Amino acid sequence: MAPSVHSSSSTLLTSDTDERYANVNWEELEFSLTPTDYMFVAKYKQGETFSEGNIVPYGDISISPCSAIFNYGQGLFEGLKAYRTEDKRIRLFRPDENALRMQNGAERLCMTAPSAEQFIKAVKQTVLANKKWVPPPGKGSLYIRPLLIGSGAMLGLASAPEYTFLIYATPVGEYHKVSSGLMNLKVNHHNYHRSHYGGTGGVKSCTNYSPVVKTFLEAKSLGFSDVLFLDAATGRNIEELTTSNIFIVKGDIVTTPPILGTILPGITRKSVSELARDIGYKVEERDISVDEMLEAEEVFCTGTATVVKAVETVTYKDKKVKYKTGEEALSTKLYTMLTDIQMGIVEDKKGWMVEIDGCDD
Ligand SMILES: *Cc1c(COP(=O)(O)O)cnc(C)c1O
Repeated sequence: MAPSVHSSSSTLLTSDTDERYANVNWEELEFSLTPTDYMFVAKYKQGETFSEGNIVPYGDISISPCSAIFNYGQGLFEGLKAYRTEDKRIRLFRPDENALRMQNGAERLCMTAPSAEQFIKAVKQTVLANKKWVPPPGKGSLYIRPLLIGSGAMLGLASAPEYTFLIYATPVGEYHKVSSGLMNLKVNHHNYHRSHYGGTGGVKSCTNYSPVVKTFLEAKSLGFSDVLFLDAATGRNIEELTTSNIFIVKGDIVTTPPILGTILPGITRKSVSELARDIGYKVEERDISVDEMLEAEEVFCTGTATVVKAVETVTYKDKKVKYKTGEEALSTKLYTMLTDIQMGIVEDKKGWMVEIDGCDD
């Protein structure tokens, strides 16, 4: 079925995109939207299996006012990156993990997700169609944003009669570059919680994000880089930031909160845990109280957009604690280990990178 996409004619697309492309400053990429040329769209009915989609010009899509995504927030997103290597290959980082996470989310929100194979094929097609937008080696990456939404119309609460799987992409630098690379966190100790047991905090549901913006903006206005949320049940244990996971380090032990449905199971979290074990650290997944974090030597956070970022300070009520950062910090070491694999500077012995064929012309 042809996706209903409104876009300019292909001639317009070409001149418009050429101009935008010429204006990109590859040295100064930030984590912001630079529209690329094409996107992937597949639509399919509830109860049917996922159907083949198409690459179409990037642009607005037409959706019913009665869609489940607009009215009831039935939607998931994913985020992953493609990297250009010095030897002109383009590779994805662990796309199978994103596919799996989308399937788990779809199960929670009663949608049909693409199989891992279909997901990865669609991601590859999207990158290939936009390959000139993959930044040069070392300048950044192509951030890929798959969406799975309830696009079909209905009024009574239900799962949508039709779903749309859509993928767009944009070249990005690093997410927290603006805040000089170090994070200053504010512990959210009173007002709003991000998630709770039995909720959707463990899946990348669209509904998890707008509710944290208020707290995030308040913290930003006070000069902080992000908010650290505590568990809703006790208010004692740390959980995660708005869009990244958190780790603490003391001696040779690296600790991160457990995956019990309230925090997002980050792929960077999982990868960094493995890398830390490889270099002799013990990695524990268990509850971490705020007090324990305040006693840690080092704190860092992880995410596809953030990569691995050192936390310089954490502020809890009227207490502000400073942590180890810089060349000697474990987070710096893990950042280098991870990005060396992603950018193809060292051999990928883990089998994490997935090559996109047809990029070397
Ligand atoms: C996406 C996300 C993360 C990081 O997950 P990655 O797979 O590492 O990108 C962490 N926390 C939240 C709330 C997220 O949405």
